[in-house]
Amino acid sequence: MHELYLAESIINIISNYAEHNGFKKVNIVFLSCGRLSCIESKTLQFAFDVQAKGTAAEGAVLEFQILPAMIHCFSCEKDLEVEIHTGVCPSCGGHEVVLTAGTEELKILELDVD
Ligand SMILES: [Zn+2]
Repeated sequence: MHELYLAESIINIISNYAEHNGFKKVNIVFLSCGRLSCIESKTLQFAFDVQAKGTAAEGAVLEFQILPAMIHCFSCEKDLEVEIHTGVCPSCGGHEVVLTAGTEELKILELDVD
């Protein structure tokens, strides 16, 4: 379970911040990840809620900023945003495409704290 591990990492980071910056409670955790990074936001929130009990992260809401998946096509020289990576250019149908964005790992952008 990828999400269990991610939830634990986020909580550890928040606990560290809480210790060093002296806040008691986190309201919102702003996160970013690529569209194709395979993170289930609902599963992650659930794992987070369970594991955050008794920590500074308890009750915090996870806000996801999903980064778009982008491809570059060598046939038509276009950069296009795609929903899924099929290996085919949606513009010209060419197969010489590379994924240039969308697989970014989960990252904490900001914490809204009390
Ligand atoms: Zn193309």
